[in-house]
Order: sequence, then structure tokens, then C-alpha cells
Amino acid sequence: EAKQSGRNTYRFFEPAMHASAMRHLTVRQALQEALEKQQFSLHFQPKYRGIHGGLNGGVNGGTSGGTNAAAAASGERELTGVEALLRWKHPELGDMSPVEFIPIAERSGQIIAIGDWVLREVCAQIKRWDEAGGKPVKVALNLSPLQMRPDLVDSIVRVVGEARISPQRLMFEITETAAMKNVERSTRIINDLQALGFDIAIDDFGTGYSSLAYLAQFHCRQIKIDRFFTSRLELSDHSGRAIVSAIIALAHALGMEVVAEGVETEHQLQELQSLNCDQVQGFLLGRPVAAPLLADVFDDCLYSAAPQQASRLH
Ligand code: C2E
Ligand code: MG
Ligand code: MG
Ligand code: MG
Repeated sequence: EAKQSGRNTYRFFEPAMHASAMRHLTVRQALQEALEKQQFSLHFQPKYRGIHGGLNGGVNGGTSGGTNAAAAASGERELTGVEALLRWKHPELGDMSPVEFIPIAERSGQIIAIGDWVLREVCAQIKRWDEAGGKPVKVALNLSPLQMRPDLVDSIVRVVGEARISPQRLMFEITETAAMKNVERSTRIINDLQALGFDIAIDDFGTGYSSLAYLAQFHCRQIKIDRFFTSRLELSDHSGRAIVSAIIALAHALGMEVVAEGVETEHQLQELQSLNCDQVQGFLLGRPVAAPLLADVFDDCLYSAAPQQASRLH
């Protein structure tokens, strides 16, 4: 009887499980050659300060409301840096989202080699920008929880040192969930990296279970409010606004600056401005694009090489 139901259960789930297991295997195998076949590339998405004043200065300039032309049109906003986002184009599987392949690379351990490539490529890109006489833009890159190992800091120092890039040019984004996996180790890594001159941002903040109580533990420069909360600024019941407001107040009290991710609408931008959010990032202001397409963003924005203290702090 039990055997019978067990078999039925198995048969019931089999097709879906089979399909996802097959996809997983396909992706994992394809990932094995992705590095050597140079199928990865990086896109870069701008982060802006100065949402005060000039609110309507350029955002409405782009008709689609989400182009880089829109961001570039705004001279009022100050570019504070760009975030590197990994892109993978496979000849048969096509463009695959990091949302799909990063978790697979994490489970297989491939993320270590991939993360190493991302850091090297970011350094190479910084050099290309510098050699072209560009502004000394700061580049943020995402770290996987799997990279939060004891040897992380040494390996970063080695790569960045070999590339002769100043740590001031780099920021590492660590998700709240990743930071919370091992608070002691994360605190040590964050402190070590910051002592060396790298900046740290806590990414996707508000989606983990730890949240506010643990934030003080990580003395990092930035926290990035997850775009889930940014999207909730649209709600008429004001609960989204209350949460974002609380996160900003706490971060400021702890001396951190706040970046809102996923800003898609003029209304969200205005709400964030009224809540004293320091920086914004999102499709409204600029989508992630390949390096050459950033030229306009660099040209048409104010840019501060050395970010000052969060403007809302006293
Ligand atoms: P993330 O670090 O939170 O990056 C933000 C994601 O939101 C990016 O998706 C970006 O394209 C998207 N985004 C930005 N603005 C908007 C907006 O206004 N609306 C909407 N709907 N989305 C917006 P992407 O590039 O697909 O990356 C997804 C996640 O994959 C990243 O989330 C990050 O966790 C991970 N990831 C990307 N590149 C890397 C990498 O090099 N290493 C590691 N470990 N993870 C990466
Ligand atoms: Mg990020
Ligand atoms: Mg994020
Ligand atoms: Mg996010």
C-alpha cells in the first residue's frame, strides 16, 4: 500500500522533476566551457546620487522611460559608480539570465572560477577606461555566498594588485542573506576589505531574515534596498513607504548610505527623494549595458571620483 502510493507519488512528480534536472545538467555542462570559449561578458548599470533637485531634468527625456539616453540627458544627477552584471551567451542555449545560471554554478562550485573571471574582467575594464582617459568610475561587483571563504580577501588582493588597480575603484556587493550565513566570517571579510580601501554594499537588503538587528554588525558603506520594496512604493496603503523609510533612517543612524534598486517609475523616484534616499539605480535611470554604451552616461553626468560622506549625514 505504502509502496503503491510511493510509486504513484514518484510518477506524479517525475516529468517536471526530470525536465528541471535535465535543464540543470545541460546548463552545468555548458558552463564548463563557458569560460574558455569566452561566452561571458559584463554589463554595467549606473548608480546615481543627487536625486535632489533636477528631478524632472532628464528622466522624462527618454520616451521609453528606461533608456540610457534618459539618464544621459540628466546633467543634474551625479554618477557615483556602475555595477557589473554578468552576461552569458551560449551558442545553442542563447542568452541566459544570471538568475538561472548563478545558482547552478554555485551548486557545482563553478562560481569560484567565474567570480575570479568577473573580478579580472572588471579590473581589465577599469584599465581600458583609464587608458581611454575616462573618468575614474567606481565599479561594484557581486559576490556569491560561495565566494565568502577564508581565502577570499587574499585572492582579491592578488588579482587587484596584479592589475595595479586602486582598491578605491572597487566595491563589493554582498547580499544580506550571504552576509548572514556566517556573521562572524562575513564581518571579518567586510572589515578586512574595507581596511584595504575597498567599499562594501549589503545587497538585496530587507529580503533576508536578519534585517535590522544585524545591520549594525556590518560597518559597510552602503546598503541597497531590494527592489521588492522599491516596487512597493507604488502601493496606496503606504506600508511600502513605511518600510523604506525605516530602513533609510536606520542606515543613516548607523552612518551608511542607502541605494534603492529597481527604480522604474517617476513616482518611485519622487518617493525616494522625499524619504532622503541617497542613491538610486534602476531601469528608469539606466539599464545595464555593455561598456561601450556607457560612454554617453559618463559624458553627460556629473561624477565624483571620491564619494563623500552620505549627503544626508551630519
Ligand atoms: P543584483 O545584484 O541585485 O542585481 C540587480 C538585478 O536587477 C540585475 O539583474 C539588474 O539587471 C536588475 N535590475 C536593475 N534595475 C532594474 C529595474 O529597474 N527593474 C527590474 N525589474 N530589474 C532591474 P541581473 O543582471 O539579471 O542579475 C540578477 C542577479 O544575479 C543579481 O542581482 C546578482 O545577485 C546576480 N549576479 C549578476 N551578476 C553577478 C556576478 O557577476 N556574480 C554573482 N555572484 N552574482 C551575479
Ligand atoms: Mg548587486
Ligand atoms: Mg541587488
Ligand atoms: Mg535584487
